[in-house]
Amino acid sequence: MQAEPMAQLKPELFHGDLPDHRVEQYLKKSMIAIDTETRGLIIPRDRLCLIQLCDDEGVVSLVRYENAAAAPNLRRLLIDQNVTKLFHYARFDVAVMKHWLGEWTGPIWCTKIASKLVRTYTDRHSLKELCREQLGREMDKADQTSDWAKEDLTESQMEYAANDVRYLHALQRQMKALLEREGRLHIAEKMFAFLPTVCELDLMGFSNMFEH
Ligand code: MN
Repeated sequence: MQAEPMAQLKPELFHGDLPDHRVEQYLKKSMIAIDTETRGLIIPRDRLCLIQLCDDEGVVSLVRYENAAAAPNLRRLLIDQNVTKLFHYARFDVAVMKHWLGEWTGPIWCTKIASKLVRTYTDRHSLKELCREQLGREMDKADQTSDWAKEDLTESQMEYAANDVRYLHALQRQMKALLEREGRLHIAEKMFAFLPTVCELDLMGFSNMFEH
């Protein structure tokens, strides 16, 4: 099923933090999609480079990370209890932001956890796969492993970064409907609530705490 093409707003790039007008706009929303780009997958080693955010109207902000102190607006949004932060694989992004931006207390929703709970007919739970199956959209992941610390991001990198948050709201609606249909929304919500603890354990170096 091909989804209706959304009118796509150009992503805006900001340095260090979200501007005041943009954080005020996001704080009025009940859910904001977030993704991060880092220099690699080892959190204390590979620094945070970019934070992408998108609201339900497709307003995309790309924030170049400088340091936690330079990002009061971003931190205010992250800890806000009324704005659910939506991710695909929240375990990584939440740990990244916990490490590079400070404490984490806000509510979380994760489309990858939702997918694992309802799409038990497959082991493919990437954002690319979900977008293809659920939204009929092909994602170009060519820039996934590019250098996000470069001074000037290319147009192609900016579009790639924006696409990682642009489809999350539509996916979340579909995943939530499937969780409800399968009677698994309650367990998903319990997992979302527990995620900050998992991230904290990851950052402390504990893994597989539930294994024998
Ligand atoms: Mn990404």
